[in-house]
Amino acid sequence: MKVYKNHFMKEHSNMKIGGIAKEYIEIESKEEVLDIIKNKENIFIIGNGTNTLLGDGNLDKTFVSLKNIDYIKEIKIGEIEVGAGLDFSKLIEYMEEKNYSGIENLAGIPGTVGGLVFMNGGAHGTEIFDAITQVEIIDEFGNLRKINKENLEISYRVTEIKKKKWIVISATFQFSQGFKKDIVEKFKLKRNENHPLNEPNLGSTFKNPDGKFSARLIIDSGLQGKQVGDAQISMIHPNFIVNKGNAKFLDIIRLIEEVKKGVKEKTGIELEEEIIIVND
Ligand SMILES: Cc1cc2nc3c(=O)[nH]c(=O)nc-3n(C[C@H](O)[C@H](O)[C@H](O)COP(=O)(O)OP(=O)(O)OC[C@H]3O[C@@H](n4cnc5c(N)ncnc54)[C@H](O)[C@@H]3O)c2cc1C
Repeated sequence: MKVYKNHFMKEHSNMKIGGIAKEYIEIESKEEVLDIIKNKENIFIIGNGTNTLLGDGNLDKTFVSLKNIDYIKEIKIGEIEVGAGLDFSKLIEYMEEKNYSGIENLAGIPGTVGGLVFMNGGAHGTEIFDAITQVEIIDEFGNLRKINKENLEISYRVTEIKKKKWIVISATFQFSQGFKKDIVEKFKLKRNENHPLNEPNLGSTFKNPDGKFSARLIIDSGLQGKQVGDAQISMIHPNFIVNKGNAKFLDIIRLIEEVKKGVKEKTGIELEEEIIIVND
């Protein structure tokens, strides 16, 4: 494993905000993860940081990256085991290469497989768990376990893994045949048009409340374009907050609070953050 003390975290969050972490560790195997959780406290698993807002002061945490656990193991045709650190785009590339189908709707999500599994990420009516049969996790007692999907609590952007702060080591996917390249291209194009990809952001800031779209609620509350410091509600996608250059952690937090307050006053609806916030 590689251990970095007093590590600058800015580049580990897609918002390009982040202070100094007590430690940042890149591990090479699941045995090393087991070792770390036995010997360290205050651990935070960091994937691609595309959903994580980091505080810009001192962060009293050991950040652990699984980016080197990025294997794809073919179990049999259509069934593969994937390491949690794999960049999700690599999984889509692999599906194309093998002519596998199942989660093409998710193409373009910039996270890791572990990050997507943790929160049951999804897009356009498909969720990552639609194609998963089993996950390998380390539970809150430090036990390495394989759990079948039917024995896991999974719902919209929430999993038992997230609730119980488990660590995802790998996931087993079951695909059908017939990769849908047209779907991948269509949704990637849509993302290029509808997401502010040229400015640092964390994707959707808020979950969609039942039957509603947070983006629509934000527009209807007159909050699109609202700015605190260099943090702005994106003019391209109102559920995204963008960093216009020099946004501070507190600018983002204040903007989130103002949006929640404004939407509540105008519509009576309480927005709930989808992004993960780490500030100690
Ligand atoms: C432009 C853009 C578009 C996006 N579009 C979508 C979308 O369409 N749908 C969607 O669902 N999301 C979307 N996102 C959000 C984000 O990409 C996903 O939530 C993704 O799953 C996060 O993965 P990550 O590796 O970057 O996680 P990180 O941000 O690094 O971590 C997020 C959380 O997952 C935990 N985590 C990460 N890996 C593990 C692991 N191995 N074990 C346990 N916990 C872990 C972290 O501890 C943290 O709590 C978008 C983000 C951006 C920037």
